[in-house]
Amino acid sequence: MQPRDADRSKVIDALEEHGGIGPDAVRKAHEETRIPEADIYGVATFYTLLRNPDATARVCKGLPCKLKGSDALAARLQAEGHNVDEVSCLGQCDRAPAALDASLELTWCAPRGSVTPDDDGLAINLGGADDAAYAALAQARAMGASAVIDALKAAGLQGRGGAGFPAHIKWRAVRGEDHEEKYVVVNADESEPATFKDREIMLRRPHRMLEGMAIAAFATGCRVAYIYVRGEFAGEKRSLDAALVEAAGYLGDLEVRIVRGHGAYICGEETALLEAIEGRRGMPRLKPPYPTQAGLFGKPTLVNNVETLACVPNIILRGGEWFRALGRGEPGTKLYCISGHVQQPGVYELPLGATLDELVDAAGGPVGTLKAFSPGGAASGFLPIVHRDAPLDFRSLSALGSMVGSSGVVVLNDTVDMAVAARAQQVFFEEESCGQCVPCRVGARLQRLTLDRYLKTGDREHLAHAEDVHWEMEEGSICGLGTTASLPLVTAMRHFPQDFRSRQEGE
Ligand code: SF4
Repeated sequence: MQPRDADRSKVIDALEEHGGIGPDAVRKAHEETRIPEADIYGVATFYTLLRNPDATARVCKGLPCKLKGSDALAARLQAEGHNVDEVSCLGQCDRAPAALDASLELTWCAPRGSVTPDDDGLAINLGGADDAAYAALAQARAMGASAVIDALKAAGLQGRGGAGFPAHIKWRAVRGEDHEEKYVVVNADESEPATFKDREIMLRRPHRMLEGMAIAAFATGCRVAYIYVRGEFAGEKRSLDAALVEAAGYLGDLEVRIVRGHGAYICGEETALLEAIEGRRGMPRLKPPYPTQAGLFGKPTLVNNVETLACVPNIILRGGEWFRALGRGEPGTKLYCISGHVQQPGVYELPLGATLDELVDAAGGPVGTLKAFSPGGAASGFLPIVHRDAPLDFRSLSALGSMVGSSGVVVLNDTVDMAVAARAQQVFFEEESCGQCVPCRVGARLQRLTLDRYLKTGDREHLAHAEDVHWEMEEGSICGLGTTASLPLVTAMRHFPQDFRSRQEGE
């Protein structure tokens, strides 16, 4: 039971300050917050950065890093005497293989990838110069809140975090809530393997995002905004801190609080993120109520992704119709990340609905002969390269049993064994399941175990129940992680049966 004077939202910071999960840290966090020690220990076990505070090297083992030799990097660092923690994803797929040092700085990485060159006709334009003019915010104030939301509707802006929900509906819902306290929360917890677009916005165009956030706060009637930045993004947080100082004169009475994450992919799910800000384990909530009704601290809350907000300033300045016309089939441009077997991994802004071929061309062409791709992060599974001309948008990929998701595209050439590629993704979901739903917790482990048995013995019978387990997980999980966690395995089995045939020893 939590005492009345407890201050839960400070638990995670207190744990970090006192060294993570050890008994001393838990006791001190208890003394500072009055939260029971057992409860604090439970929180500490949830977050990677708190669980292993003594790691001197955190090596990414996500699929793009595996393809570029992260196993060898981990072995080398271990041999050099480092305390190596192999982690799910560092959001540096264009720099693979990636590893952070003890201070969470990117010590062992290739240079950052490419982005689309400066082009003023793009909605976000990563290659352009960021400025702190805040002309769109001034215009939004002059237009009034209702007209701002109408412009969003005319633009047809869909949330860029993965779900593609129309942004104007969320904004209008929060605006319609008659509460003194309401919040805007920026979801900057980008953690899906293959995804690093929000990272580039925070590094290159932080003012675009801050301005979009300020417009959202104005339109919804919020006076406090939180930015939840993944803990492994040290440089990105510094960039936001600096931009906030520059923006101070423009933001009026909007109070902005930056909260650091501590290593948990599931906190990218909007309600898990709210739990984390409140100082709990980041476990998704049952919906309804939706955050727009009862979100952060039980108050109406608008949760938007970094890219979604970064689209807003140009929608206000140039109009909703201008933004809508940038898309092909669906509105606007999209930041696509591409990694794996391409010449120039990076983030490319293309019309929403561009094809894989266009994206690979923007990235300098393929490496080798392409065989497969994962179009939208680990949760989108795999597609055969025959779909290279399908529009990478919400509707078209859904029709193929996949999704645009986080638009983290990984391309794989014909040297890749899809059973091995699927295993990298299954390990990710097994480790990142928050564990509260049995189908997700047990199913994710079962899928990885049976795949391991197949890889060890070559006997396909081990995978006989993979589709059934996938169905159970889809039907019985609370959130999107559980419903999609089996897709890497089952889509690889469906589309690449030759990589899952029974094999003789040594084959
Ligand atoms: Fe947690 Fe998985 Fe359930 Fe989502 S589906 S709430 S990640 S156990």
